[in-house]
Amino acid sequence: MTPGIPRNIRKDHIISALSTIDQEGYPKEHESIRYSLVYEGRKYPPVWVIRTANIFANKEPLDTSLYSGGEQSNNFLRKFGFRIVKKTHSEVDHTSFDFETMSRERIWREIQSKYKGQDIPAHVLRDTYRIYGGAGRIWVDRERTSKISNDASGITVSVFQKDTPYRDDFSESSIVFPYPVTNRRGGQDGLEITATKNAKKFNIPVFVITTSKKDPTRRDVKKGFVRDWDDTNQTFLIESGKIPEYTKDGSFSEDNPFSLNQKRKRSLASRNEMNPRFSFDVFKRYGRCCAVCSMNVGGLLSAAHIKPVSENGSDDPRNGIPFCQNHRLAFDTFCFTIHPGSYQIVTREHGPSKKDLEIQVEDISKLKALPDKFALQWHYKRFFLQNKDR
Ligand SMILES: [Zn+2]
Repeated sequence: MTPGIPRNIRKDHIISALSTIDQEGYPKEHESIRYSLVYEGRKYPPVWVIRTANIFANKEPLDTSLYSGGEQSNNFLRKFGFRIVKKTHSEVDHTSFDFETMSRERIWREIQSKYKGQDIPAHVLRDTYRIYGGAGRIWVDRERTSKISNDASGITVSVFQKDTPYRDDFSESSIVFPYPVTNRRGGQDGLEITATKNAKKFNIPVFVITTSKKDPTRRDVKKGFVRDWDDTNQTFLIESGKIPEYTKDGSFSEDNPFSLNQKRKRSLASRNEMNPRFSFDVFKRYGRCCAVCSMNVGGLLSAAHIKPVSENGSDDPRNGIPFCQNHRLAFDTFCFTIHPGSYQIVTREHGPSKKDLEIQVEDISKLKALPDKFALQWHYKRFFLQNKDR
């Protein structure tokens, strides 16, 4: 007996489910991909039938992530004498976005219910689910997905984070993923970049694959959406969860009204949680270089909040500024500030001086964009409060 489907579902529950579906229909995204249950000449999606039968058996719809389509559902229904047929090729539009989105969602549900997304043998991802290419970092399954995107590039299926990323580039819910720069023949890098941009254009989920912490031959999998890309810094932002308020369809836009403050759950405000989205937005907006010196080595740079998270400062990149680690610390501890009108660097009256701090600029005008004045005003005021007794 399959663990995910309650034992007390009976044949009459299933027949009641079929008549409910006749009356109410079912959501389009729950159309089955490969099989139909056939009853009195009509066809039904097996997973949705079981989900609905549970209402009659146990008074609530069954969580469809607890069991899988295909054999598990089909065998359960066959046991009661129902006929399951494979969909004919013409019944399935394999090249539609809906079909592709649906099959990725289904694979994701199966990976979660069988493996909780963790410690999955690589060959299962490659051969059973076909969402992993092995050696490459971006898996497109181009022959198949280019029929969907209707171009030469296809749509990225998964990205593989091979090596340990920079500390700021990876969290539970988001990743800053670098463009491939392998210079393989045939413009492979360019095709993979376009295929990953296609995943955002068509709003299709992608899988983020990482090496399991327990066993390096196994893989952890998450599901995310490509929310934005940065051609200058050559990075993608891939996220799961809700789209932040200060973005438009997931990308930061200057047209959004600025807000200096942002309410967070207390646990998030106190923990020094990595925020790849914030780093991505800050580096995209200002450029990947320290605002006050010439340091531009990735991994030694960080995106600082001007009004910090501990004071409920927002993650809007206009409340951010890129610094090297030293200058970030100096800014966070009010060794210097930035004048909100002239954007000039201001240091403490009794030092350390700009020279001591190795600040190489008079103002921050070398940045591609300027921070919001209200954010700088907050820091400027706090700088004087903090330093008045020194
Ligand atoms: Zn610096």
